[in-house]
Amino acid sequence: MLTEPNSQWVRVLNSKYAKEDGSWVVEGRTCSKWWVDMQSVVDAVHGCSGWWNQHVRHVLGNGKQTRFWHDRWIGETRFCDEFSRLYEISLNKNDSVEGMYEGGSKWRWSWRRPLFAWEEEKLVELANRLASVVLTEAHPDEWRWLAERSGKYSVASAYKILAKSNHVQVDTFYDTIWAKGIPPKVQVLVWQLEADRLPTRDNLLLRGVNLEGQNGCVFCEEGSESSKHLFLLCPKAYAVWVRLYAWWGVSGVLINELRSFCHQYMGLVSGSKGIKRVWFAGI
Ligand SMILES: [Zn+2]
Repeated sequence: MLTEPNSQWVRVLNSKYAKEDGSWVVEGRTCSKWWVDMQSVVDAVHGCSGWWNQHVRHVLGNGKQTRFWHDRWIGETRFCDEFSRLYEISLNKNDSVEGMYEGGSKWRWSWRRPLFAWEEEKLVELANRLASVVLTEAHPDEWRWLAERSGKYSVASAYKILAKSNHVQVDTFYDTIWAKGIPPKVQVLVWQLEADRLPTRDNLLLRGVNLEGQNGCVFCEEGSESSKHLFLLCPKAYAVWVRLYAWWGVSGVLINELRSFCHQYMGLVSGSKGIKRVWFAGI
């Protein structure tokens, strides 16, 4: 959205979610769930507030794409927040930097009423902040992503930043199942299993599939055939795990919670060859 402000998809999002003051609508019936999720990630990830802003820098060019009051283009704050009183009485709240600039040290101020003395002082303060601004006609304004040398945003670098943060708990379960050495079809199966997306009889019933009364577990015909039952709790599945553990000479209590079970199971062997054998044998 920052680097392609004129593209069709950005215009659609702007018309749906952008507020006049430059912030975003993030609640209410018109908001889609993914939009709310995305905003919550940008705003604060479990106490990691501001991580996004810390890694994005605005580089001023011709000033046409930069909103004077609403963008963070000098320093760490937006002028509409830092000079909120001046912003409130401004008549050019939505102007770009280029639209506000008159050349030299002159700016095109426009106020709803004459300024009070203390507001004049604030304006001097603001003008001082603007003293070093130079617009370069030949270059468009740019956003730089500081985590990449190229300045271009990448999901991988954002992930690294969040993973390094003490505030973010990275889910190691997915590291476990996507580890090298496990056959892809097993990985996909476990992934579906964890998300409870396998077509077990429980899930088929939930989707309204008629099983003609055969609702129980396909192995033991007892209970309901949930993912957890089928892979962990069913006496037949349980017996398989017990024999595998005995085969490897491992003793321990079988955990009846899928994630913890996978962690325990992966811990049985080290090295990709071992992992491969264990997963093949078990699944
Ligand atoms: Zn069963």
